[in-house]
Formats: sequence, C-alpha cells, structure tokens
Amino acid sequence: MIEQIATKVREGGRVNAAEALALYRHAPTHLLGSLADGIRAARHPERYVTYIIDRNVNYTNVCVARCNFCAFYRTVGSPDGYVLAFEEIFRKIDETIAVGGNQLLLQGGHNPDLPIQWYEDLFRAVKARYPEFKLHALSPPEVLHIARLNNLTPSAVIDRLVTAGLDSVPGGGAEILVDRVRRLLNCYGKASADEWLGVMRDAHRAGLRTTATMMYGTVETEEERIEHMLRLRALQDETGGFTAFITWSFQPDHTELGEARSLVEATGVDYLRTLALSRIVLDNFDNLQASWVTQGGKVGQLSLAFGANDMGSVMIEENVVRAAGAAYCMDEVEIVTNIEDAGFIPKRRNMHYEVLGDPIYREREVPRMRSLATARTDGNTSVPDELRKYPARSRQGKALRTV
Ligand code: SF4
Repeated sequence: MIEQIATKVREGGRVNAAEALALYRHAPTHLLGSLADGIRAARHPERYVTYIIDRNVNYTNVCVARCNFCAFYRTVGSPDGYVLAFEEIFRKIDETIAVGGNQLLLQGGHNPDLPIQWYEDLFRAVKARYPEFKLHALSPPEVLHIARLNNLTPSAVIDRLVTAGLDSVPGGGAEILVDRVRRLLNCYGKASADEWLGVMRDAHRAGLRTTATMMYGTVETEEERIEHMLRLRALQDETGGFTAFITWSFQPDHTELGEARSLVEATGVDYLRTLALSRIVLDNFDNLQASWVTQGGKVGQLSLAFGANDMGSVMIEENVVRAAGAAYCMDEVEIVTNIEDAGFIPKRRNMHYEVLGDPIYREREVPRMRSLATARTDGNTSVPDELRKYPARSRQGKALRTV
C-alpha cells in the first residue's frame, strides 16, 4: 500500500486524503523525506534555496480575539498593551533597509481602537517615505476584524488598503482550517475556516499574492492536518494566488492552552514528517518555507532535505513566538552558511519569490545581527500622539484619547 502510493507520488500523481493519511501514519521518515525532496528537486532543479531580508513588526499587541494558544496578546486597557507610533515604524524600516531589507511583515492584534483610517494613513506614510519598500501586511483575521469594526466587507477593506499601499497578505491566523479545532482554540470567532479562505480568495481576486500557513500540534487530529492542506490545495487550484506554504508547531510556553492541557511541543521528527507531507499534498504550491524560527537552525537546515526550498526571513525582530518560548535567531551569514552546508545555492528573494541576487553581505558591508529586536523596550508605556486623531471604540481607548 505505502509503496503503491510512493510510486504514484514519484510519477507526479496527486494523493487523496486517505493516501496522505496512510503516508503520514505508516511511511518511514526517510521515505517521506525522499518523496518530498524529489518534488522539491523537480520544481527547483537549479538547487537555489531562497530567503528574504525583511522585518516582522507587530504594530499592536492589544487584541480582543484572545486565542488560547497565544502568549503575545494583551487585553484592552492592559498596562503592557502598546500601539507603535508611525515614527517608531519608520525607524524600524530604516534599520531594515540598512541590513539590505526591502519589506515589512506587518501584523498585530485585533485592536478595537484602530479604525481603518489608521492603517490607511500608516500605509500611505510608509509609501510616501519609502516608495520602493513593500508592505506584506495584515493576515485574514486582521482584515476581518477591520471589516467588522468599520462595517465594511473584507473585499472593500482589501481594496482600500491596496489603494493605500498594501502589497501582499501574509497567511497567518490559519492555525488549522477546521472549525472543530478553531472552536477549541478559541479562534473560530476571529475567523472560521471559510472566512479565512474567503479573505484569501478576495485578496487573490484583487491581484494580491499571499502565503498560507499551518500551526499544528494543539488539539487537531492527523486527519484534520490533512484536511487543512486539502482546503489550501483546493483554493490554490481555484486562484493560484498562494506563493508559499509555511508550517510550524504550536509553541506552548506561557499560553492558556499549553497550561490547561499540559501540552508539550511537537518533536523535530514530527515537524519534518509534517513538512514532507505538505510538500507531497500541496502539489500546486511552488515554495515551502523552513520554519527555523520555531524549530531552530539545525532542524531548519534539515528541512531542506524534507521538501523546503526557502529559509523564510532573515529575522531582525520577532515578538510572537518569542512570547511563547522560542527565541531562535539567525542573521544572513548564518542562514547562508546553513544553506551552503546542505549543498544548496543561497539566493535573496522578494515576496514574489523572484531572485534578487546573492547574499548581500558578500556585496557590501552590512551590520551583523546577533540578537532579535523587540517591538518595544521593556517598561515603555508611551502612547503615540497621533492616536488621538482617531476615534476609539473601547472605554479604555476613549479615556486614553482624552488624557
Ligand atoms: S493569535 Fe493573533 S488574534 Fe489570536 S490572540 Fe494572539 S494576537 Fe490576537
């Protein structure tokens, strides 16, 4: 049975749910790896492994969604809650450009006190200062939150944000696209599986490219992991708008879910098997990222033998998985070393996976980054002046505006 499915995969056949489950449950890890590596090699015969230099900026940690797997958010009115000032975001962009970066991955909590005008003004201000700089921003649940807050449809939000400067949409907030799981993770309210896919469909129709993600290792079954992949594959058949797929394991530290269920993090082998299966099932995705930020550099490097062809982002800043206990850091030199040591050719890319060139530190002097920046320095509770311009929804937000 496993050998028959393996032959089908080697011949370019598409696996169904039962075949995927059989592979996941019964195929030896080395077989899964070699099948995934064969698909990677056919799609990327030049042996390039790409990465992007960008910065993961979280514009606010205030969130009303309260997903139980999240260690990052703060409730409305929390003394640790923040919204970044436009000037702080500009400074982060300046630092990103200094190390050769060309994009912000901009995501944040569902803050009820940020109307759509705040996002539009921010995007316009970024584009006015940095016309070539890209904004890979606002995952589907954030788009839905803005739509609900402003009585707009998600597609109207996307249109307005594209006009203001949005370039592409990150695939965050997908977790597992099965509503049973989403209810247990307390993230059904922020976006059901259909709603998440619907925003991506709208984004693709608007001409944007997006990524897709999967966070596994919580309460989902193996069948539900596969259902998630199949739902993404079906939308990719329909729109072709996904550039890449990224999967990572739930990081349990400091989370309500981790404590309530005494969950431990999925192992490295589980990660590699899940990654390899994704490469096999998602036969219409060109690119798979290695999630070294959650798995560490060594498993990240091994991912290149299990179907990944991209090392994701040279992280300059990370706040979300760090809050849940993972704090791996690699700068461009380390990423390139890992790629070359695995027998591949490192190339810088943009969000569209177009190759921009060789490692930038070999072209010019750039500062080395030995640690990850954070959104805010500890104890900084400042409130940006410009926030007063925008109407607040929450009682606490209204009080802050009048101080
Ligand atoms: S995962 Fe995102 S939406 Fe959920 S609580 Fe955390 S910040 Fe909010």
